[in-house]
Amino acid sequence: MRIDIITVVPALLEGPFSHSILKRAEDKGIATVRVHNLRDYAGGKQKQVDDYAFGGGAGMVMMIEPIAKCIEALKSEREYDEVIYMSPDGKTFSQSMANELSLRQNIIILCGHYKGVDERVREKFITREISIGDYVLSGGELAAAVVADAIIRLIPGVLNDETSALTDSFQDGLLAPPVYTRPAEYQGMKVPEVLLSGHQAKIENWRFEASVRRTKERRPDLLSGKEL
Ligand code: SAH
Repeated sequence: MRIDIITVVPALLEGPFSHSILKRAEDKGIATVRVHNLRDYAGGKQKQVDDYAFGGGAGMVMMIEPIAKCIEALKSEREYDEVIYMSPDGKTFSQSMANELSLRQNIIILCGHYKGVDERVREKFITREISIGDYVLSGGELAAAVVADAIIRLIPGVLNDETSALTDSFQDGLLAPPVYTRPAEYQGMKVPEVLLSGHQAKIENWRFEASVRRTKERRPDLLSGKEL
């Protein structure tokens, strides 16, 4: 997979992809993330990427020309399955969306800034608009990093233990059960006996029940219409 992220603040994206699991994905050649500075596609000495909103009002709007140049340059090199715009009015990001996107080959993610992008960018180029929640960030970079992380960790070979992504919260519509590691007892707090029993069927059963209990308590909405 290849993810191209377009931004006016590339430095915001330097951290997330150069460490840990996402770095390993890049090192193994499983997922490549390339960050593009929109200013490189801007005209004039000023390298202008934004301008006043027609009709007035506070806040600058990102112009269509630099964005169009950048997207067209990328598209001339390869085919893209999706051109995503991060936006608070997009569809709320979810595990099922991450699952779907993890099957794609090439994705562009456009990060907005200021008041967002000229509406015509959305009409002309964008195939999908994603919000990471009902709050407003100052730019799309952190949101793009969230989406890219959630997608990349699902690609086979990225996580060490292949089954580990499948047992995370939301994958089966349930929250994950509690987890424990050594020591078996800490200041009188004991790990549930069954987890030390070595009896795999009983352990699985305990985990399933703990998942259901936790989901009932914290996210009953996930259980509605579900048969357990
Ligand atoms: N004026 C816009 C908000 C602009 S915020 C509005 O009211 O809808 C600037 C940029 O940050 C947006 O263009 C978008 O790319 C990004 N952004 C802000 N909040 C976001 C969210 N919840 N999810 C995804 N991207 C977001």
